[in-house]
Amino acid sequence: MTLTPSPELLMPAGNFEKLRFAFAYGADAVYAGVPIFSLRARENDFTKEIIKEAIEYTHSLGKRIYLTMNIYAHNIKINKFLDAFCEMADMGPDGFIMTDPGLINKSVKLRPESIIHLSTQANATNWATIEFWRDIGVKRIILPRELSIQEMATIHEKVPDIELEAFVHGAICIAYSGRCLISNYINHRDANQGTCTNSCRWEFSLAVDKGSLLEAESVHTENADYQPLAGKYLAKEASRAEQNYVGQQFEMDEDEHGTYLMNSKDLCAVELLEDLREAGICSFKVEGRSKSVYYAAVVARAYRRAIEDLATGRPFNPENLQELVSTSNRTLMTGFMKKRPQEYGENFEDGASLPLTHRFAGQFRDYDSASGLALLDLKNRLEIGDTLEWITPDETTAVQVESLFKPNGSRVDVAHGGLQCQIPVPFEPNEFTLVRQVLKSA
Ligand code: SF4
Repeated sequence: MTLTPSPELLMPAGNFEKLRFAFAYGADAVYAGVPIFSLRARENDFTKEIIKEAIEYTHSLGKRIYLTMNIYAHNIKINKFLDAFCEMADMGPDGFIMTDPGLINKSVKLRPESIIHLSTQANATNWATIEFWRDIGVKRIILPRELSIQEMATIHEKVPDIELEAFVHGAICIAYSGRCLISNYINHRDANQGTCTNSCRWEFSLAVDKGSLLEAESVHTENADYQPLAGKYLAKEASRAEQNYVGQQFEMDEDEHGTYLMNSKDLCAVELLEDLREAGICSFKVEGRSKSVYYAAVVARAYRRAIEDLATGRPFNPENLQELVSTSNRTLMTGFMKKRPQEYGENFEDGASLPLTHRFAGQFRDYDSASGLALLDLKNRLEIGDTLEWITPDETTAVQVESLFKPNGSRVDVAHGGLQCQIPVPFEPNEFTLVRQVLKSA
């Protein structure tokens, strides 16, 4: 088996700024969506001009950029898609991420020199399917998150002449990737056209049927009389429940905030990079084009360090996992990589992604060397006494807030998110400096 000495770190680029930070903090490559033809249609400001600029910027750093065009197309979009593909191909990206078999087939014939990666949405779960895609002309397979590392290794053994990419970090669909109508059903936003509203993570509550949809009375209560359910509750499949077959039972929970039925924990495989490399994975992919620039930076830095440790034979450093835990998440797990996640994969507490130990405090904008004050765009509230960590691609420096100033120089005790403030800093920050707050309960 050939080992990939140092697999690529592939980060999401939801916009140009996130792309710049992802590279500054250690990404080898990024993926960015082509407007209306990728599955992040709503959080995408990549116009054709910006894509061209992004490709030039990426190549000036000696790095790689892949363009995502992974919708399943209806007839009406075919010609527009192929026109856009040719236009993008002329710009010289390092690859295209696609799903739709018909569009892949046509794209390969139109531009045989272009490199096509098969999107995870295509659900290529076995080596026979991957042989098929190789024969069509696809150069890389982005493996479904539903595969175990053992299955990945078998695929690599059977089809060694195709690149394999695997997700190592980020959100997971509760549905089989790409095969989901939940958002479409609930609020007419189609996941396979890039407009999913994460409806699987919403908070639901029970209501008593009063004979009219408009009059259903909520039994979900936030009042002081609420009595949390005691014990553990399971939903059982009706006809086979008496067999007590574990696979047919689903844990249910309701607290004073509501009920979460389908909210997956997030994937984190930072401790499994060596196993993945041995299974033939050449690209470690992080999900999250809609996440913040802070998330892109901190996650890229943690995986970069872990990949370097792997390349030089150093043991896994738990600090890298702690860094990942510090970003917003819905509780981390290793997904399907080692065992099936039926019994540990859901988060019944919160549908939102929450900061646990740190939160993004602000982004550096300017520095006045005479006063030693840095100007920040604040993302969250700050006050005197808070502990801040100043982050650069190479280090993290903790400083307690002893004074805060408005941009006009007036002193304040509290500064609010969404505004700017000035704050003393013991070193001169650079354009990639970010600031995070240590949460008091951490
Ligand atoms: S609704 Fe949930 S499971 Fe379905 S595509 Fe969206 S995130 Fe995935």
